Amino acid sequence: MDYEAVIGLEVHAELSTRTKMFCACTVTDPAKSEPNSAVCPVCLGLPGTLPVINRQAVELGLRVALALGCTPLPRSIFARKNYFYPDLPKGYQISQYETPLAVNGKFTIRTVAGEKVIRIRRVHLEEDTGKLTHITQPQAYSLVDLNRAGVPLLEIVSEPDLCNPAEARAYAVKLQQLLRAIEASSADMEKGQIRFEANISLRPRGSQLLGTRTEIKNLNSFRSMERAITYEMQRQQEVLLSGGLVEQQTVGWNEDTGVTFPQRGKEEAHDYRYFPDPDLPPLVVDSAWLDRIRREMPDLPEERIRQFQQKYSVPLELAEQILADPWLEQFFLGCTSDILLAEETARWLIGPLAGELNARGIGWEANPLAPTNMADLLARLQTGSINQPMAKQLLKWMLDTGKNPEEIIAREGMVQVSDVDSLKTTIQAVLHAHPAEVSAYRKGKVSLAQWFFGQVMADTRGQADPKIVKMLLDELLTALMGGQLSD
Ligand code: ADP
Ligand code: MG
Ligand code: ZN
Repeated sequence: MDYEAVIGLEVHAELSTRTKMFCACTVTDPAKSEPNSAVCPVCLGLPGTLPVINRQAVELGLRVALALGCTPLPRSIFARKNYFYPDLPKGYQISQYETPLAVNGKFTIRTVAGEKVIRIRRVHLEEDTGKLTHITQPQAYSLVDLNRAGVPLLEIVSEPDLCNPAEARAYAVKLQQLLRAIEASSADMEKGQIRFEANISLRPRGSQLLGTRTEIKNLNSFRSMERAITYEMQRQQEVLLSGGLVEQQTVGWNEDTGVTFPQRGKEEAHDYRYFPDPDLPPLVVDSAWLDRIRREMPDLPEERIRQFQQKYSVPLELAEQILADPWLEQFFLGCTSDILLAEETARWLIGPLAGELNARGIGWEANPLAPTNMADLLARLQTGSINQPMAKQLLKWMLDTGKNPEEIIAREGMVQVSDVDSLKTTIQAVLHAHPAEVSAYRKGKVSLAQWFFGQVMADTRGQADPKIVKMLLDELLTALMGGQLSD
């Protein structure tokens, strides 16, 4: 039997508000704030307190909803989702259940097969839980930090329209970009500001029915999500092929061992005993409010990419790559003084520079280069005072030393050698030093031309003008072949 996968994603994103969802506590950076320093009676769940809806959270949520083409509901209801866990001081989470903020949107992703529309089921507001840290040595205990308790979360739920891990990734990546572009969430995975849950089932290929699903909780990166989905598809397939039934359950993902493990039988909604929160009025959203949110909406990524592409006349993929990361975009703008060099600049940033940063484990946000220095390097490349290999070496040294091109070029004596006579001498020396290769070349192994070229460039520490070397080498090798014919 041939099976196909059906995947639906639930994405949680922390909204970039100043304060929490239902109280005036500041939303803090968990890495920088003292545990339990940003808390108050409301988010600690003390009796006698009353929650108040955060207007900024609602506006950011609506912004996302509108950007996803959802229909906002005129009255949405906050409900209590009851369960017991030490990170949930009230004993319930305030969330939207039957009547969410917005419903029925769509989001277009790009897949290997072309564009695909993923339907959005709902977008709703809720509050985050606190954070537990489990200590095992020398004694087992857990630490509770409630700074995150009550931070506004937006949950975006897709229809089960995704078919494979790559599509799930494309969806998640594009959603992260959207959230950032409209400044609804910083969606930083390292900070846990965006988290994924993947629902997966299999069905006989071509069937219209949905199979029984499992839900993988708490996926914190695109990579874990892809790996976990791949694993779970495989596992379910084995169960089905051996004649078993997939059990509906919630599973966890172990990043180290690369397997999913059962956490609990999937709870039914009635296990949570949802009911409307009597402390909160319905959230009323009128058309005047929506109009204002539409007017204030920052440009969506597609629109920004289109404008960027036009302004700098670069290909679409290049524009997408530069705009995929705000730090990269910022850097690009900083080093693009000459619009004619825009494409060249963009290619250098996503090519050699990205490669060097990657090799050093540095992200764009920590890129140490000054944009003016990068612009300087590219200008020298453009005028031909340095060539590609030299530029790449120069870039390495700039990253290593923090010095500017001027200083490094002076210190290393980096000048492109374009002098025909001296290059001819170098090439002849190379040919002379490698008689075996020369003879192989003469016998027809013409691919060695590239190898000779490499030797000459290496002998000149990459400083030879590659165009001139190519031309001279061609001449000399042709002469060699001529010599062979006259033998
Ligand atoms: P819950 O809130 O209990 O997780 P929902 O019905 O809201 O349940 O569904 C959550 C997610 O699961 C949605 O993204 C939906 O597309 C997806 N989903 C529902 N049924 C299936 C299924 N049979 N296979 C894969 N995904 C599914
Ligand atoms: Mg779910
Ligand atoms: Zn509070």
